[in-house]
Amino acid sequence: MGKTHTITLIPGDGIGPEVTDAVVRVLEVVGEATGVQFAWERFAAGAGAFEKHGEYIPKELYASIERNRVALKGPVTTPVGGGFPSINVTLRKKFELYSNFRPIKNLPGLETRYPGVDLIIIRENTEGEYVGLEHEVVPGVVESLKVITEKGSTRIAKFAFEYAAKHGRRKIHAIHKANIMKMSDGLFLRCARDVSKGYPDITYGEHIIDNTCMQLVMNPYQYDTLLLENLYGDIVSDLCAAFVGGLGLVPGANLGAEAAIFEAVHGSAPDIAGKDIANPTALLQSAVLMLHHIGESEAADKLQAAIEKTYTERKTLTRDVGGSAGTRAFADAVIQAVETSRESATIT
Ligand code: ATP
Repeated sequence: MGKTHTITLIPGDGIGPEVTDAVVRVLEVVGEATGVQFAWERFAAGAGAFEKHGEYIPKELYASIERNRVALKGPVTTPVGGGFPSINVTLRKKFELYSNFRPIKNLPGLETRYPGVDLIIIRENTEGEYVGLEHEVVPGVVESLKVITEKGSTRIAKFAFEYAAKHGRRKIHAIHKANIMKMSDGLFLRCARDVSKGYPDITYGEHIIDNTCMQLVMNPYQYDTLLLENLYGDIVSDLCAAFVGGLGLVPGANLGAEAAIFEAVHGSAPDIAGKDIANPTALLQSAVLMLHHIGESEAADKLQAAIEKTYTERKTLTRDVGGSAGTRAFADAVIQAVETSRESATIT
């Protein structure tokens, strides 16, 4: 038997437990097929954790991520307009997961608004408007601080260029609003520009955020890798998810020097929670990224191939992508695809 990986698991809430359960079941079979074992350390976070432990993020959860350095996370609901701070943002800041990596790529067999999209979104994950520094100056006047630092901007730019260089990406566009936010976005751009000088083989460009949204919808193929501040990256990720079939599909990784948390781009989608209709593909593809990260590339490839086979066959797809299967049935189909590939490998 191969290596056992101990991984922190945060099922989350809303559709989180359903999609997480699907991924854990699929990974067990992928593990059996490739000689990899997973030991999960499960933790609640957010409102569910507060009810049980009196803390939104239990100390044991922090300790588990510190120990394992890898977590798989379902979405956790953040109350709108008040209540506790975002669990996602808190974990990203705590572990300095400064890079949010989101590949946007079509799945074979799935007809979408745009075929053949292959975009990488690299979002700064710890700064910008998401530092959560807001206060009421006088009744009726609120200030919200946007923090951009040279250190934060340089390290995310380096991440983007290093990624591009290693993976044969040709072009990086830094996305900004430096015509209005001259100092903050100006600093972000200056850092990206400086870093770009060390990578002469990669074309570097700068586009204003509002124009970028229009350009993306007109012609997403003109872009390759997008480098964005936190808020712009959050919004543009959802926009780009629509190119390839929606939020049910797009994976994500939060990466730092000390830890990595893998989670889908989508949130907890309360409108469809508990109904067995959520698409677990986004978290499954996040698990593919996780398997590569922990050095289990064979398992990653097997899982990706099984997902793609399920889409190519088009027999068992969830509603958001035009099928009628439930979350569990879709996971069963992916499991079946893993098992079929295993049998054919044994026969040959
Ligand atoms: P947040 O701001 O919390 O990240 P979001 O903007 O990503 O949230 P979601 O709550 O994820 O928004 O989802 C928006 C809509 O997209 C949902 O109401 C749901 O209809 C759809 N959706 C999201 N995730 C999925 C999924 N996995 N499967 C099917 N539909 C989904």
